[in-house]
Amino acid sequence: MSHIFPRHCKSNLPVATRGEGIYLIDSEGKRYLDGSGGAAVSCLGHSDPDVAQAMHDQIDKLSFAHTGFLTSEPAESLADRLVAHAPEGIERVYLVSGGSEAVEAALKLARQYMIETGQEQRTRFIARKQSYHGNTLGALGTGGNMWRRAPFDPLMMSASHIDPCYEYRLRHDGETEEEYGLRSANALEDEILRLGPETVVGFLAEPVVGATAGAVPAVKGYLKRIREICDKYEILLILDEVMCGMGRTGTLFACEQDDVSPDIITIAKGLGAGYQPIGAMLCTDTIYDAIAQGSGFFQHGHTYIGHPVASAAADAVVRKLTEGGMTARAAKMGDRLNDALQAEFGQHPHIGDIRGRGMFRGLEIVADRDSKAPFDPARGVAGRLKKQAFENGLICYPMSGTIDGQLGDHVLLAPPFIITDDQIDELVGKLSKSLEQVL
Ligand code: PMP
Repeated sequence: MSHIFPRHCKSNLPVATRGEGIYLIDSEGKRYLDGSGGAAVSCLGHSDPDVAQAMHDQIDKLSFAHTGFLTSEPAESLADRLVAHAPEGIERVYLVSGGSEAVEAALKLARQYMIETGQEQRTRFIARKQSYHGNTLGALGTGGNMWRRAPFDPLMMSASHIDPCYEYRLRHDGETEEEYGLRSANALEDEILRLGPETVVGFLAEPVVGATAGAVPAVKGYLKRIREICDKYEILLILDEVMCGMGRTGTLFACEQDDVSPDIITIAKGLGAGYQPIGAMLCTDTIYDAIAQGSGFFQHGHTYIGHPVASAAADAVVRKLTEGGMTARAAKMGDRLNDALQAEFGQHPHIGDIRGRGMFRGLEIVADRDSKAPFDPARGVAGRLKKQAFENGLICYPMSGTIDGQLGDHVLLAPPFIITDDQIDELVGKLSKSLEQVL
């Protein structure tokens, strides 16, 4: 009997024993094409020799030094490298062990910034419906996925939630993309005014939504208007790039494509690329200086922050994403993946939308293309697709959810950037076959 506590307690999972490029292999020798990079994690595939070497080199020198006493060369190098490529104004890097930790740090930093600047009455966060920002209580409390929150609601801080920027479902007929972007962003201003601007700390959103609605980018102009509104009411803009950051959308940071610089950014997943658990919270010098020149102490911390081996792995990953050309490859192969998806599913009667950027692509599955009606949730399309694809040797990331009852089933694709043309055809072929079997 296994003593592992799996998430789905009744599941009997195969045992992964090896990773080779974009494939995972189990103990029976079955190969799975990792079409979602786990959950947008494995950007460099599963057997990158350079990252492995960087980890070996580091562990031979220094495995751990507590950041309460000492910093380390790989942590310093990683922070320098991230800032060199970060959006304008982002100057400081706080290293953690994953995405939820990065979001917790961001929320606490934002609140502490308000205290240090004499705005103690600011306690509220605004996020968006159907969003996911992590599973720890603070991150879950700001997230807008009601199903995930429900059992823990009485334990959490609460945030308010505006509609996401979701063109396929929420743009009105006759409205241009720009008009919709403006209207969608202006919902933030309405909510700030409803709460009272002097009570709000910050607004938290993903530039390209990942885990709750496969790869939904904001429309043109949306984030720029969001930035203006945050500036007008002096609230902090926190962009959660845990899933969409680190080259995934074809630029190192997703918000580069929206030409917007936030006050705080969270990253994880692709930062460690699956080689080490690591995340980071990045912020401006304005925020850092308020604390440095105020209390002088960020009232937060975990034992494993700035871990030297994790930092060395992430430093090697970011080097490959930038100098090594892997982010440019994500942009190029992402276009190729999009072409293949359009060719296969562009006229499919049950695919309503094909969307995303770079190596971050989503398909929305509908019962009826014209009315956009989703399948009856009782059919469990997303769950069955996940199972069927896995059976066929494809790991993809189907999900289902709801925004005011409108959102049905989707599938997220986020393969490693090293994927080849032939492997893209294999991925799309397996997905198509699995979908036919399920529908
Ligand atoms: N934010 C976003 C946008 C995410 O997609 C996730 C994970 N899916 C998290 C935060 C939480 O990250 P982790 O699972 O590493 O704690």
